[in-house]
Amino acid sequence: MNIHIFFFSLTVLFISPIKNLCNLLYAVSSNLDVLWKQLPTLFCNFLYKDEDVRPFPNKLMRPKSEEELLMERTKGYWRNAALNTIADKLRQRMNFNTAKNVIFFLGDGMSVPTITATRVYMGGEEKSLAFETFPYTGLSKTYCVDHQTADSACSATAYLTGVKANLGTIGVTAAVNLKNCTAMNQRENQLDSIAKLFQLQGRRTGLVTTTRVTHATPAGLYAHTADRHWETDTDVSTLNGDVTDCEDIAHQLVFGKTGQQLNVILGGGRRGFLPREVIDEQGNSGVRSDGLNLIEEWIKFRENHNQSYQYIWNRDQLLNIQNGTDYLLGLFQSSHMNYNKERNTETQPSLEEMTEAAIKVLDKQNSSGYFLLVEGGRIDMAHHYTWAHKALDETAEFSKAIQRAVEITNEENTLIVVTADHAHTMSFSGYAARGSDVFGYAGMGTDKLPYTILTYANGPGYRPPNDEGRRYVPLPEDINEIQYQWPSVAPMEKESHGADDVTVYAQGPWSHLFTGVMEQNVIPHLISLAACVSTDIECEETDTKAP
Ligand SMILES: [Zn+2]
Repeated sequence: MNIHIFFFSLTVLFISPIKNLCNLLYAVSSNLDVLWKQLPTLFCNFLYKDEDVRPFPNKLMRPKSEEELLMERTKGYWRNAALNTIADKLRQRMNFNTAKNVIFFLGDGMSVPTITATRVYMGGEEKSLAFETFPYTGLSKTYCVDHQTADSACSATAYLTGVKANLGTIGVTAAVNLKNCTAMNQRENQLDSIAKLFQLQGRRTGLVTTTRVTHATPAGLYAHTADRHWETDTDVSTLNGDVTDCEDIAHQLVFGKTGQQLNVILGGGRRGFLPREVIDEQGNSGVRSDGLNLIEEWIKFRENHNQSYQYIWNRDQLLNIQNGTDYLLGLFQSSHMNYNKERNTETQPSLEEMTEAAIKVLDKQNSSGYFLLVEGGRIDMAHHYTWAHKALDETAEFSKAIQRAVEITNEENTLIVVTADHAHTMSFSGYAARGSDVFGYAGMGTDKLPYTILTYANGPGYRPPNDEGRRYVPLPEDINEIQYQWPSVAPMEKESHGADDVTVYAQGPWSHLFTGVMEQNVIPHLISLAACVSTDIECEETDTKAP
């Protein structure tokens, strides 16, 4: 027998079954603990070339020096780090001061995997977002009254008014079903937000968002509506509402009791304030059908009440707010503000810049404090389109805004709470090497095709298998694109929210209460207690040492 034919036969006879056995071993051992997982690697690796297992090498986020790598291999490094953390914890003292100021940061759709992936995006697994150093952390259960998975509307109602509601409704109890105007207009079904409680005590209030200021999250502060999509009168009539009965959200912001008293309103959504025939500063037309110019109405109210005010529409104006301004309306885009990666940094401010400007207006000497809502609103929208790059970048921007707020406020008298309204379906898969770019590959499927670190359970990133039934695998040049829509298991026009709990982080007065697993609607009650604005919970005003 020819020697070549002999070896070929040997391969077919033995190697192929061994390879199958190894594939099986890999699949079974993936559920076992670390030690057993090594087995197939030990016995089977000779069958595979490295590129089979990691077909496309991942970029490293921050290559470590030889010295750093050696340090992490020692006991001392990890033990010292742990002891330092314990020492920090032992130094922590509970803060029983009354919260003069409260800043509530809401990362829309900021799920736990989003936070973990953003750490890697920001430079490595060991990085922390600004709020991850806060002393107290809890979990929030986000379901709403009629749905297992929340949307931003019922969720905003829960964390801003303290009462859970139905999907798609804002600032009303669950006695109001979607699109029911009659029920929404009944006073007993309407809920006061935490901002309203601050206003009743003569304290300042404001909101900052990267979405339209009439979008679900900010609307939770000032609106009562049976449909979150009724942002303008035109929306009401096109979405089966009665314009004579169902007041639109923009109108409520300018004419409603709570909206009218907001000292700061910063975000996008200018079109909802202008009639169709009016062209705004950037050349876009308004969308209102009732002919009302709500920006002019807002100004008229300030003048009638002798209030100092400013209406602004670009970054320059925001960075040069006059000192004595008590009321600030800033509308920086016709619709939502642009994603940070796509914004014109000359004309559109960052979330961090808006947050700082808002605090300057709210934090007046001799005032009795303020409540500010800051929303990183486009994390959610990026996830809906499975644009993972943008979702993580928006989360990093959100973190910068929190960092700035921490720097310019005082922990003794300012409670800062950071949370999300609901999760998303993006998952973070193993086992990429330490330091790998999170926009990379995690490993091989049993079909011997690579899979990415980030994937979505559903969404527009779904691609069917090819004609041979081969699973879709993105190429490295695809996943480097910021606009790349990450793979999804089930096809959907827009990816859905996730039902998993979201995290709550707190620092400042009474932050030690924001721990454990809580219903989402508990959050504003805790804030009320900390700031002593509640009518339900008794609290004693404590003098703060801070000015
Ligand atoms: Zn959403």
